[in-house]
Amino acid sequence: MLEALRAEVLEANLELVRCGLVIYTFGNASGIDRASGMVVIKPSGVPYDKMTPEHMVVADLDCRIVEGKLRPSTDLDTHVALYKAFPGIGGVAHTHSRHATAWAQARREIPCFGTTHADYFHGSVPVTEPLTPAEIDGGYEANTGVAIVRRLEGCDPLGCPAVLVAGHAPFCWGKSPADAVHSAVIVEELAAMAWQTLTINPEAQPISQALRDKHHFRKHGPSATYGQK
Ligand SMILES: [Zn+2]
Repeated sequence: MLEALRAEVLEANLELVRCGLVIYTFGNASGIDRASGMVVIKPSGVPYDKMTPEHMVVADLDCRIVEGKLRPSTDLDTHVALYKAFPGIGGVAHTHSRHATAWAQARREIPCFGTTHADYFHGSVPVTEPLTPAEIDGGYEANTGVAIVRRLEGCDPLGCPAVLVAGHAPFCWGKSPADAVHSAVIVEELAAMAWQTLTINPEAQPISQALRDKHHFRKHGPSATYGQK
């Protein structure tokens, strides 16, 4: 079942490793088939060089395993929470990439210091509130998803394709698994750039709203002009 999506999800997971965003097995990518409501996700703890499309696990939107002999990534419930809340997304990627994770650990949003950032995010890369002890104790992974969704309330998830989970790391998404990986790569790059910007000038300020809007809406929304028709 879902052979093409299995292959896409495997490829997205391998791309995270190739891009240097994932060491050992810290990280996971998934995809959803919206027609059937089935999520395909990486299995938990299987070495990347041994992974095949058949190892991918298929689950429904209640996190029940529909197909696959292996246990899914422990973050399945977080991925599912995002798919349920954001109907326009088709893939999710989670990494502990160094710079983005450093901002998540510092519990600081990444300010929009330049047009590279504005091309992808209409504003800062947000950070969640820390989870409460009760949220950690019961349904931790699902509650991580709830914290992300709560932080994005009122925003277009495709205009803000990642959130830093406080004390943890980024969760990123896009229209497909490959797109979600693209978001993860961009967030890591923006995090490194912002850190260096503040190192050079600790007083650096975000770009103006006019410049931010110009860059963001060239690529997103009804007036987008970027790329080929
Ligand atoms: Zn994690």
